[in-house]
Amino acid sequence: MSITGGCQCGAVRYRIDGELGRASICHCRMCQKAFGGPFGPLVSARIAELTWTRGERKRFASSNRVERGFCGDCGTPLTFEYSDTWIDVSIGSLDDPSLAVPTVQLEVGSRMTWTDSIPALEHVLPPEGYYETIQSRQHPDHDT
Ligand SMILES: [Zn+2]
Ligand SMILES: [Zn+2]
Repeated sequence: MSITGGCQCGAVRYRIDGELGRASICHCRMCQKAFGGPFGPLVSARIAELTWTRGERKRFASSNRVERGFCGDCGTPLTFEYSDTWIDVSIGSLDDPSLAVPTVQLEVGSRMTWTDSIPALEHVLPPEGYYETIQSRQHPDHDT
């Protein structure tokens, strides 16, 4: 069974024909910037088992050791590339993100400590009828 994923606009899509490796979250400042969020959620896959099925990711060499892949059209973070054998993909870009459950966290020194209290935050709903006004342009969670 293959695992698929891609960016929000659908210009870049990938398929993994194999098992996912370790899933992690990284709190480093580079992941915070690259994801625009409190941490980077990533899961590893074997490069030999990953196929780009639509489009080309753009890459930014965030250091001398790492390139980060993203969609050049919509900006979705897609990869963390650091090895000849392994590549990490962003967990949120998987069509089924529940396939990757982080088991480790990295770089806790730069952790945004407010993430500890997320479960206790007040739940806020949009105004009545709001969703009926939304026409999503997000690519669906499957190949098209
Ligand atoms: Zn895109
Ligand atoms: Zn990081």
